[in-house]
Amino acid sequence: MGNPGLHDARRRPSASVGGRRAAFVAPAAACLGIAVLGAFLPEDLAPSWLIAGASAGGAIAALALWRRGDASSASHAAPAPSASTENDDPSRAQLELLRRAIEIRCEERTALLEGLADAVLLVDSHGETLYANRTAIALLGAENCVPGTRAAVAALPPQVGRAVSAVVGAGGVERRRFECELRDGESTPVAVHVAGVGAVRDGRAAVILRDVRAEREADRMKSQFVSTVSHELRTPLSALRGSAEMLADGEIENPAEQRDLARIILEETTRLEHLVTTMLDINRIEAGMTRAELAETDLAEIATRCVAEQQPEALRRRIALSVARAEQGTTAAADPTLMKQVMLNLISNALKYTPDGGTVAVEIATDNLARTVVVSVRDNGIGIPAAALPHLFGKFYRVENNRHFAKGTGLGLNLCRKIVESLHGGQIGVDSQPGSGSRFWFAIPMEQAGRKAA
Ligand code: ADP
Repeated sequence: MGNPGLHDARRRPSASVGGRRAAFVAPAAACLGIAVLGAFLPEDLAPSWLIAGASAGGAIAALALWRRGDASSASHAAPAPSASTENDDPSRAQLELLRRAIEIRCEERTALLEGLADAVLLVDSHGETLYANRTAIALLGAENCVPGTRAAVAALPPQVGRAVSAVVGAGGVERRRFECELRDGESTPVAVHVAGVGAVRDGRAAVILRDVRAEREADRMKSQFVSTVSHELRTPLSALRGSAEMLADGEIENPAEQRDLARIILEETTRLEHLVTTMLDINRIEAGMTRAELAETDLAEIATRCVAEQQPEALRRRIALSVARAEQGTTAAADPTLMKQVMLNLISNALKYTPDGGTVAVEIATDNLARTVVVSVRDNGIGIPAAALPHLFGKFYRVENNRHFAKGTGLGLNLCRKIVESLHGGQIGVDSQPGSGSRFWFAIPMEQAGRKAA
């Protein structure tokens, strides 16, 4: 929907001089209205084009009004001018040019207002709609945005109507900002900005509504994150406190028991350290502070080193840990340190969630079609239920049934995903069958984006 007043005025036939000038003045005033509205929009909604429009539109409208007064006084003194007199008047041609220029400007400004992602309403002192942009119509419904009716303001929560009355009453110098929920069945949260547009004869107000569902969701996720982190920190902290208190009180005299408590303190401190380090690593990647130093990296070689590092733990648990490499083409454009971090995470998970005596195999393969090197870590461990698979790479997610099997933070796989996908442009995934085992895999491009292998 455009501004009907604006379009009507432009379409009006200009059979007489007065009619033609009225047709000229109307868009000029409309342009002024839109420009003034722009001047009162909040900072982020009042781009320079709107402010510039305020001065240009105002100047042109003033000139038009002045010319109109001039013409009407002339028409009182003299008989109506003939068509030939009109054509002979050079200032009339100029006015025609100006009228056209104003029309074009108005169309541009209207198009821009129509393109805004925020809902914009211009209402008069009675709360009647003068203008509603496309987003306002989508948000409130076309039936509520009919010009000349109060339906739009009535459809909004009552505080909007009160804010309109207040800013109009204050002569256009006041602004109100608040958040409320629409009465649309979904209670869509919106940030409302009401600004008086007092420069125009009768008081008017601009009502701007911004859908803040995404912001609310982000806030909710932040709170959830803080509460999860607090919970994750509290568990090792209480174990630490308990053990430290017993040692400090001198309650435990048996040296073996003392050593046990010291071991708990060491384990929990390591867990805390791991938790905080992983959180910081994820945070740095999300904040764009970690960059992968991409170089030609042999992923098979890194896998062999990781397997060697994890071999003592595998031996302790009697798990057969091996690496099988492709004959060739195991080189990818990757950061060796980060690749090692991902592989160690996946191998240590495989060991953690595989019963003693099981098997864990690391395989390196190439996908020549996709031009990627694929690393898989297979185990014949406890597996993962299908319902858990979509959540596995999320933050702090731990499979409920597997919790008792090993301690963890639920952050390792999230970090792996960030390293593989965000820093290397690769892919990570999992196939698993509860009771049969899992295959975690990731694929890294052989060449850096935009660079082809020789
Ligand atoms: P955690 O520190 O809990 O291991 P991760 O993010 O590495 O955190 O893993 C998330 C969850 O995924 C784990 O808690 C576990 O339930 C499950 N998981 C990860 N790897 C395996 C695996 N190889 N076999 C079975 N479950 C796994």
